[in-house]
Order: sequence, then C-alpha cells, then structure tokens
Amino acid sequence: MILVLGGTGEARALAAELVARGVHVVSSLAGRVANPRLPLGEVRVGGFGGPDGLARWLAENHVEAVVDATHPFAERIGASAFEGTRAAGVPLLRLQRPGWQAGPGDEWHWVNSLDEAADKSTELGERIFLTSGRQGLAAFARCTRAWFLVRCVDPPEPPLPPRIEILLDRGPYDLDGESALLRDHRIDVLVTKDSGGTMTTAKLRAARERGIPVVVVKRPDRPETTTVEDVPAAVAWVSAMLKA
Ligand code: NAP
Repeated sequence: MILVLGGTGEARALAAELVARGVHVVSSLAGRVANPRLPLGEVRVGGFGGPDGLARWLAENHVEAVVDATHPFAERIGASAFEGTRAAGVPLLRLQRPGWQAGPGDEWHWVNSLDEAADKSTELGERIFLTSGRQGLAAFARCTRAWFLVRCVDPPEPPLPPRIEILLDRGPYDLDGESALLRDHRIDVLVTKDSGGTMTTAKLRAARERGIPVVVVKRPDRPETTTVEDVPAAVAWVSAMLKA
C-alpha cells in the first residue's frame, strides 16, 4: 500500500493516477477543512500523533512507500514524514510544486514570515488583500490602522485585525475575477505565501496589471529528501518502488 500525505491538488491528482493503475493507495488528510475535496481511493482523516504515531501506522498498515504531497507551508507534517518514515524504514518521496518567480512588471517583496509580512504590507499600503490562509492571521492582529480583505476556505478564528472583511472562497480563480476584486475593494497591497502551482496565480497577474505590490512569504525549509516537482514523476517513482 502507498500512503499519500495530502491536502493539495497534486495529492489528489496523484491518488487518481495511482488508482487508475490499480495501486492500493490511501490518502491522508489533516481534517482542517470542513468540506475537503476528497481524493479518489481510500481516505483517512486526522493526525497520526507525531513521527512516532506515523511510524506505528506505517508498520501496522504494511505501507510500502510514502509520498509527502502536503502543502509547502505544512512544516510539521513534513518533519513528521521525514522522521516517521526513517524510523519505520519506509521509502519517502516529497512531491512539491516549484515556487513562484517574479516576472517583468512585478513588484514583489520577499519576507521570511507572516510577522514580517504584517510589517511590510502595512508599510506599503492601507487596503491589504490577505491570501495567506486562515491560519497565521494572528500575525496581523496588531495592525489596527490598515483595512484587510481576508480570503480563506473556512471562517478564521480570533485573534484577527480589527478592520477586516472576510471572503469565504476556494480556488481556482481567474484573472478577470481577481482584477475586479482588487479594483472593487481598492486594494493597494497583496499578501501571499509562495505556494506555487497554477490554481491561485491569477491574483499575481492581476496585481501586476494593476501595479499593486505583492508581499510574498518565503517557504520554510523542509528536511532534505528525494523530491520531484510534478505528478508524472511521482507516479514513476511509485511504480519503480512497487517493482523493486
Ligand atoms: P502542519 O502544521 O504541518 O501539521 C500540523 C499537524 O496536522 C501535523 O503534525 C499532523 O498531526 C497533522 N497533519 C497535517 N497534514 C496532515 C495530513 N495530510 N494527514 C494527516 N495528518 C496531517 O500542517 P498545516 O499547515 O496545518 O496543514 C494541514 C493540511 O492542510 C496539510 O495536509 C496541508 O497539505 C494542507 N494545506 C496547508 C496549507 C498551508 O498553507 N499550511 C495550505 C493548503 C493546504 P500529527 O502530528 O498528529 O500527525
């Protein structure tokens, strides 16, 4: 059996490819989102209880290999995947989409954390579009003067900045929609994590077209392990593992 640590579009695409090839795959979700898009094949939901819990789960379920296809900012499960697979002696692949890169006409400001994003964005503007997700909004709670448009999948919990409008939505988004959103809310700064991928790039193009600066949070470091950038390469790795 192959365990795919999921919560991303790539993880769902990988599960679908493996199911189509007759591979026994179990996808694992954290259980954070109320109504997640479910992958094909078997799904389990909830934490494992750290690296030790994951190692036990791998042994009990006779897992042959693990693909960590979690989001680039999901740091704890990344560390757990590394340590848990090592303890259980199970091969691990990291599937991680490439990060974004600024192009001509972009004004991007790279920062190391959401805390730094709060400082930088409020220095650059007053009407800030926050697309960095529901978790971590506490970093902006101290920003009392700026106004924030926050877009996330599920309602965020306090602490939150006092001047805020919440937009519950889920990608993919298109350029016209993103441009209209920036215009209608008179946004003057966009904040994003360097999530990569194509599902949410329209906001970056819309910001470029409208001359709006973007504050981009750098990805956290992950443990070094065998890594591929796309689903076909992950399918090839799994196929090779199952033949070995
Ligand atoms: P995190 O901080 O790295 O993980 C916190 C804990 O949640 C982990 O220690 C683990 O609990 C559990 N967990 C996380 N992902 C899991 C998975 N796929 N299957 C089973 N347990 C999981 O993760 P996060 O940043 O909260 O993200 C949670 C999930 O949302 C991830 O699956 C990620 O792919 C997805 N996601 C995250 C972001 C983001 O910006 N962080 C964006 C989009 C999607 P135990 O220690 O008990 O095993």
